[in-house]
Amino acid sequence: MRKPVVAGNWKMYKTVADARHLVSEMVPGLQPIKGVEKVLCPPFTALLAVSALLEGTDIGIGAQNMYWESSGAFTGEVSPLMVAELCQYVILGHSERRVHFGETDSTVNKKVLTALGMGLKPIVCVGETLDENETGMTKEVVSRQIISGLADISLQVDDSKTVDLIIAYEPVWAIGTGRAATSAGANGVIADVIRPALGTLFGERIAQIVRVLYGGSVKADNAADFFSQPDIDGALVGGASLKVSEFIQITQSAAE
Ligand code: PEP
Repeated sequence: MRKPVVAGNWKMYKTVADARHLVSEMVPGLQPIKGVEKVLCPPFTALLAVSALLEGTDIGIGAQNMYWESSGAFTGEVSPLMVAELCQYVILGHSERRVHFGETDSTVNKKVLTALGMGLKPIVCVGETLDENETGMTKEVVSRQIISGLADISLQVDDSKTVDLIIAYEPVWAIGTGRAATSAGANGVIADVIRPALGTLFGERIAQIVRVLYGGSVKADNAADFFSQPDIDGALVGGASLKVSEFIQITQSAAE
């Protein structure tokens, strides 16, 4: 049994004041939900305030990106040491970073290696564009993102039989469009492409242990359908994670 994970990617929304307000409204509804790993990923500027508000709860916090060097003359970057001071999780390789900021499988790989070395749980995003989907390239693209993005990584199975690596399958055409993948289609990519690629890298046992989330227009009214699929272990939620009752309902669906 893989414990589900529901992570909210706040993207570039919420000032510190807005973030405090959102978290204080969210926590009372999230806190009683058990059996799900709950994670909030605010912007860097709000991490300190949000981490203070989450102290004493079972809700984790994640960054949305980080650099791979621990310090140095890298103006504007945020180091893994700085992230690990405040966070347990970090989203890496989100398609918005690949599209707008030149992130590649190779930079994702450096970041994943560093994150694991720092004891962070990376949530590594993979997924095909609309064009790749329509030209039958999904398998090739997603396998390549896994095999190259996770090259030279070794994973330890801990006492609770989990590993620190989490994957999010996020078809780019489904992100922020309101056009979610079908639950069966997403499950198929995870079962037939992502887990086999993980098996090639880490062996079959670990391929079955890694939590693989679906992301792309997940809402309160379609979440349960995704979570009913055998290979979908939760969700990475963008837009709906900024809405208190939507995010609580999605998390509740993962618990059921
Ligand atoms: C995301 O940002 O990772 C995401 C899945 O966004 P949305 O839920 O808005 O499609």
